[in-house]
Amino acid sequence: VNSAIDAWLFGPGLPPAGRAAFISLEAGALVIRNGEHQFRPSMHEVSLREVGFGRPGIELAWSQSGEQWAVHVLNAANAKRLLSIAEFRHTASVAALKRSQQRALRWRRFSMATLATLLLAPLLLLILFFLNADPIADWIVSRIPIDQEIKFGQSALEQFRAEQEIIDSGPAFDAVATIGARLSKGSKYPFQFHLADDETLNAFALPGGVVVVNKGLVAATKRSEELAGVIAHEVQHVEYRHSLVNLVKQMGFSALWSMAIGDLVTTLAGRAALELTGLKFSRDAEAEADDKGFDALVAADIDPSGMPDFFETMEKSVGDAPSGFLSSHPLSHDRKLAMQEKLQALGNRHFEALQFTPWPPPIVPTQ
Ligand SMILES: [Zn+2]
Repeated sequence: VNSAIDAWLFGPGLPPAGRAAFISLEAGALVIRNGEHQFRPSMHEVSLREVGFGRPGIELAWSQSGEQWAVHVLNAANAKRLLSIAEFRHTASVAALKRSQQRALRWRRFSMATLATLLLAPLLLLILFFLNADPIADWIVSRIPIDQEIKFGQSALEQFRAEQEIIDSGPAFDAVATIGARLSKGSKYPFQFHLADDETLNAFALPGGVVVVNKGLVAATKRSEELAGVIAHEVQHVEYRHSLVNLVKQMGFSALWSMAIGDLVTTLAGRAALELTGLKFSRDAEAEADDKGFDALVAADIDPSGMPDFFETMEKSVGDAPSGFLSSHPLSHDRKLAMQEKLQALGNRHFEALQFTPWPPPIVPTQ
């Protein structure tokens, strides 16, 4: 250092803002001077840290006779000159400063990366949702407690009943309720079955165990096993929570958000019941409802051939009557094949016929 470096001296008896001083190198030692003081701190014992806004400067601190002293070199170029003094450059003090500068740099990089992740996380989740909607929707739905699901289904049923007459007595209703009870025995859901006063060929399930069959569908079935096939299918839509998964998928990213703020069931409940009655299921959901429904028929000792037969009946009757069932439960060639294979696998197994006569049963409610 050929010329002295400007600095500010801080210590006992000096004003809090410090006092002008300068640092020079004399005979291999650092010398700090102002009008009244002169210090020669050991280069190895001073402690260094960065100071100033944006950290361009260096503080050099030491103790002398039990008192703390420090000088600040605030000018970046001067700070660099100070640290590059040959005798000083390789001391433990400068090495410690460099380590702390590297730590600070790593921390700043880490903070930036964290901030970027936080800002990008919603975007990443959104992309993930579209790439991988099914597992995410399943995961969200798996976090909805059953009692909430039941409440949701009940409120949807109430909304539905406000717009649609329910019959719920008479031979046709008895058939629906009797078959329904057999196919939902042992379920964790409190199932209830209803007969709607609607000519449309349709049936649907609401979350938590509500199955509604239209009188038009009952009238279109050729035998009671066909009705059993429909009910078995609907019961599995409840068991596998297909309509919840479907709603969550429709909500997309906002479902994740509602769940994050603990408000998912309220948000779901805000959706119209009629939306639930016409939800179009995915091919996977349909295949699953067929597969498990078929097994449930066999387990309840009901001839499962009514299930594929009913789809035949539906397809033939599409021209005559509006079918809500086929539009909300799309029938694919794969589904038909899968049911035929399951039938063949059963061989000649005999099933006791369901005892409902006549069929179709009268819709007229008992007075
Ligand atoms: Zn279905």
